[in-house]
Amino acid sequence: MPTRRSFLATTGLVTAGVLAGASSPLAAGEQKPAKHVEGPHELPRNLTLLSIDQGDGAETLGVKMGAGVLDVRKASRLLSMPAPLTLEELLKSGNASGLNRLIEAASHSAKAKVAWLEESKIRHGRLFTHPGKIVCVGLNYRRHAKEIGMKEPRVPPLFNKFNNALAAHNCTIPLPPKEIATKFDYETELLIVIGKAARNVPEAEALNYVAGYCTANDFSARDLQLELPSSQWMIGKTLDKFAPIGPYFVSADLVPDPNNLKLETRVNGEVRQSWSTSDFIFNTQQMIAYISKHWTLEPGDIIFTGTPHGVILGYPKEKQVWLKAGDEIVSSIEKLGELKFRLA
Ligand code: MG
Repeated sequence: MPTRRSFLATTGLVTAGVLAGASSPLAAGEQKPAKHVEGPHELPRNLTLLSIDQGDGAETLGVKMGAGVLDVRKASRLLSMPAPLTLEELLKSGNASGLNRLIEAASHSAKAKVAWLEESKIRHGRLFTHPGKIVCVGLNYRRHAKEIGMKEPRVPPLFNKFNNALAAHNCTIPLPPKEIATKFDYETELLIVIGKAARNVPEAEALNYVAGYCTANDFSARDLQLELPSSQWMIGKTLDKFAPIGPYFVSADLVPDPNNLKLETRVNGEVRQSWSTSDFIFNTQQMIAYISKHWTLEPGDIIFTGTPHGVILGYPKEKQVWLKAGDEIVSSIEKLGELKFRLA
């Protein structure tokens, strides 16, 4: 286990004594270093968070509550209270108490009333813009391995996506021209969000390192993914916006068993995948233990955990009708919400 000092050093948080400030909004693509917060590195608890596209280039935190959605940036400014302004800042700074103080104050302040928004009026931003790593696990459901005629793997097959692939709830994925790819397919997946630096973590402790979970889609171009006999999967997985995530980040305490969640995919209203994470070959704990044996997982890193059967690739050849511009895809996972996106 890393010491607190070495942990802070590896996550770049050694700037002692500075509170995460309610400073200027983050412009698109700008990476603000997370600041160290005095006190323990806290994981978010009892929180359902989303990202608000502010329309000025900033994608900042919203907190979903009974009363609506709290615009964290606006409340922080109105009340002059510092708080993490993005999910990544929250996870990297470990300043959950700063956010909780702001929520508490905004719940009882007439001044902060205008910071409460109606969820239906929010334009969603990306929950993640600069994760340190996007790790993907392939072939992780028993029936899915069977449908595409592959043997169950001995260890989790890993590949990756890059940050260019990250996309928001309600986004439009621009499909590449026909010369590049034509065989587009959905993969609804549980996304694990890491909250604490994890290195060589035993299975029994692995869930302690999880900040929360999201609904995600490992959108894929099968012709690129399977172009080489040696299976260079990555190229078919990380085209621009091929990793929509959302609408929510749900803290881990609200999801007691990530290995028993129902998942569903609908294409233009038709159910295509309907299964459960209970069919995982490698469960959440095993994935984290295996990955952290090879490299350090850090706060804000995300893990795509594989998709169940029902993908187009698994259909008999004559029934494979690939996704096309105009299609609307919905990925839903129990407790985590419905991710929607369309193709253009
Ligand atoms: Mg996948």
